[in-house]
Amino acid sequence: MAIWNLGSINADMVYALPHLPVAGETLAASGLDQFLGGKGANMSVAAARAGSHVCHIGAVGADGRWAVDRLLEYGVDTRHIAQIDTPTGHAIIAVDQDGENQIILFPGANRAISPDQIGQALSAASAGDILVMQNETNLQVDAARMGRDLGLRVAYAAAPFDAVAVAAVLPHLDLLFLNAVEARQLQDATGNPPEALGVEDVIVTLGAEGARHFHGTTGAVQDIPALPVTPVDTTGAGDTFTGYVLSGLDRGMPMAQAMAQASRAAALMVTRHGTADVIPDLKEVQDSRL
Ligand code: ADP
Repeated sequence: MAIWNLGSINADMVYALPHLPVAGETLAASGLDQFLGGKGANMSVAAARAGSHVCHIGAVGADGRWAVDRLLEYGVDTRHIAQIDTPTGHAIIAVDQDGENQIILFPGANRAISPDQIGQALSAASAGDILVMQNETNLQVDAARMGRDLGLRVAYAAAPFDAVAVAAVLPHLDLLFLNAVEARQLQDATGNPPEALGVEDVIVTLGAEGARHFHGTTGAVQDIPALPVTPVDTTGAGDTFTGYVLSGLDRGMPMAQAMAQASRAAALMVTRHGTADVIPDLKEVQDSRL
């Protein structure tokens, strides 16, 4: 089987600064690091490293070849990533000496994906494959509809949270991922708790408290604990968790087993600095003594 990910690809540019700039100030950075980022790219890398065939559907500009090469190097199928006439999505991240940050996010090519591109990619999908999306690209609802028509299992991570975007895609979903804040925001927006959203499988991640699975048809609720680790950097934990759950399901695991493996992968992730570049592979997850 395969996982199709309509997802963002970002260049994360991290500038080291003596302090965060104020209005009108020009500041010289003492360092620049460039990383592969974007929730979409992170999830593709996680699911590929977990052992699935992942086809990323996305777009970059002429300046994004390196990001596509990096995804390829991490085992992601990149043939459905278009190069278009819009700059690659990027985040300009200013970090001061205390670790405080300021971020400018430019969605760029991530929000200029064409319906034709999605249609062409999904024409190669098979019934039973998984389609996953987040809220950093355009066309989630169109893609979800196409996915459903083709018999795919349609999954969505409601991040970054936007109540209107989630409400629009909700009727087309089989599987929904929320973190604790997003679950509360969605409940405020719809008046419904996670178990009453009309989605068959809803997973709410709760940071160091683990994750909870709500099953729509049976009403069953299952808690998967987090592993006890000392966190050094929690960025990418949610994306790693989601990618590993999807890969587990794609490889035929029951939900509880897929979530348990995802919990181990995410626990390893929070002990590391960085995002896509440091997502653990299946062997590391299995061999870890967590
Ligand atoms: P997000 O990063 O999207 O906000 P969470 O913070 O809920 O997501 O984390 C996702 C998953 O990562 C959790 O369900 C858990 O398995 C793991 N995780 C996050 N923080 C920790 C932690 N401090 N210790 C162990 N596991 C963690």
